[in-house]
Formats: sequence, structure tokens, C-alpha cells
Amino acid sequence: MPRAAKLIKIITAALLAASSLTASAQPAVDEHLSAARKAAGTDFPGTLARLCIVPDAPTGSGTGGPRPIPERATWYAEPARMFDNLYWVGTKIHSAWALQTSGGIILIDTLYNYAVEPEITQGLAKMGLNPATIKYVIISHAHGDHDEGAKLLQDRYGAKVVMGGPDWDLIEKNPNIPGGVPKRDIIGTDGQKLTLGDTSVTLVSTPGHTFGTLSMIFTVKDRGRPLTVAYSGGTAFNFPKDAARYDTYIASQKKMAEAAKAAGATILMSNHSEFDDAWDRGRLARLRRAGEPHPYELANDAVQRYFTLTSECAMAAREKLATR
Ligand SMILES: [Zn+2]
Repeated sequence: MPRAAKLIKIITAALLAASSLTASAQPAVDEHLSAARKAAGTDFPGTLARLCIVPDAPTGSGTGGPRPIPERATWYAEPARMFDNLYWVGTKIHSAWALQTSGGIILIDTLYNYAVEPEITQGLAKMGLNPATIKYVIISHAHGDHDEGAKLLQDRYGAKVVMGGPDWDLIEKNPNIPGGVPKRDIIGTDGQKLTLGDTSVTLVSTPGHTFGTLSMIFTVKDRGRPLTVAYSGGTAFNFPKDAARYDTYIASQKKMAEAAKAAGATILMSNHSEFDDAWDRGRLARLRRAGEPHPYELANDAVQRYFTLTSECAMAAREKLATR
């Protein structure tokens, strides 16, 4: 049949065109995917899946219109004392962290608006901490799953909100954020040391996921033993797809790997359980017996491998742009 024959001819031509387009880029993509798999090992399957396998939608969360509040049973999680001085007050999906110092609490990330009261203010109280002692609120990046609770904590407790400059610009252009837009307090900058009482958090500017993404280095204590945390502030590729943006992201991963190495970090932390299993690790920490290693402490080079993994997946995604 001439019509069917014509269709087959068109499909064949399209496939041929596609294969000749991908021919040059595919080996490079495969090389990066295989390097990413090797770097992930058995430590970071969630990050490998999200960055190297599952494609992302090109929009940030929290920038759209109103969205329904999910059923509480799908997200509510009990708070956990993760380290002597670090409490996890997140949902099953998103993390918020309370670093207890001699001068009050440094809170890292604030969840969606619907979760700030049940998880953060009530979660801290459940842990025997007073939310009114939150002095700093560091926002890793200005997407709704991390910044919507900020205004409530600023208004109610006078906490100072810290965010990267470009991300302050981003939220101030978006007045309809559930929970409201906090007033501009502190612009977090690269290398800035935020000190409260006996504890400091060093900010590392890691643009990519958003242009104002802040990562962090800080120390926690595990049964009195100091351990260093590398906190990665932005992970997924849900940004406009262009090579320059991937280059920015990749440079930030290398920068954070170096900062983590210089500080001797053996813990990799994130703001989504998808990437660091915070929810599971909190439950494991409760079951831990004397003499057992902490569920968050990673062996030798794992923190470095994490940033190799995120870089390699970004390089694969950048190579794939050429195949479109
Ligand atoms: Zn985000």
C-alpha cells in the first residue's frame, strides 16, 4: 500500500536521522553514565536514579500556582535526634535540620508551608527544644519545598533568614508563595561563616540547581565525637536545559567536593530523603546500639564519590543536549 509504504519510509528516515545525530554523542553519554554508576556504588542509589535515569521537568517546585496539600499520612514523619546536637525535623520526602548550639538553634531549610508547624515547631517541642530559640534559618535554595516555612519562623520568633542573593531576588518576584515571602535579612555569600554560640556553619555558594544555591560545611557530635557534614544545597536538574547551566552546576559540584575534602567530611547530607535517606537514617539512628557505627557516617571516599556522581550525571545530561 502506497500510504503505509510512505509512512514506513518516513519513520525509517527519522530513525536514521536520530541515529546519526546520537552517533557522536552516545559514547560520551555512556561513558559518563558508567562513571556515575561506579561513583554511586551501593551508597547513593536514589541520587543515581534521579539524576542519571529519571528525566526532570524544566521547572522549579514552588514557582507555580496553588497546589493541593497532600494527605498527611503520605508525608508526616516523627522527628529524630540524628546526632548529639543535630535534630531531623523533616517530612518523609523533604528535610529540615535543627543544629543546637549554646546560643540557640540554627535551622537549615523550612519545608512546604503545610509542614512547618507539624514538623518543625511541634517537632522541636517533641524533642524538648524551644522553637522560639531559632536564631538563624538558612535556606539552601528558594524552592517551595525548602523556603515556604521561612516567613512564619521569621515573624513568630524573630529568626534571621539567610539565603543566596539570586534566590532572594527569585522569591521577591513571587509574592504568591504559600506561607508568604520573608523580608530580606542576610544574603548568604561564598565562604561566609555563620556563628551562633559555640557552633559555626560555613556557607559554600554552589549555583546550578538555582543561581543562589547555598551548600554548607559544619560539625556535629556523635556520642561526643566530632564529625564533619557536607550539606549539598541543590541537586536535581529541573532547570532550563542549556550547556552553560550544566557547566555552572558541574563547577559547583567540584567546588563542594574540594570544600568537603578540605574539611574532612565523612557525612553527606541533603534536603531530600531521595538523595541521602534521611528518613530511614533517622529511624536507624533510634535502633542503634552501643558500639555500632552511625547510620550517616560514610566509609573513606564516599563523600567524594557523591560529588563525582552528581558531576558525571550532569555531564551525561549535557552531552545528551547534543542529541536533541
Ligand atoms: Zn529545588
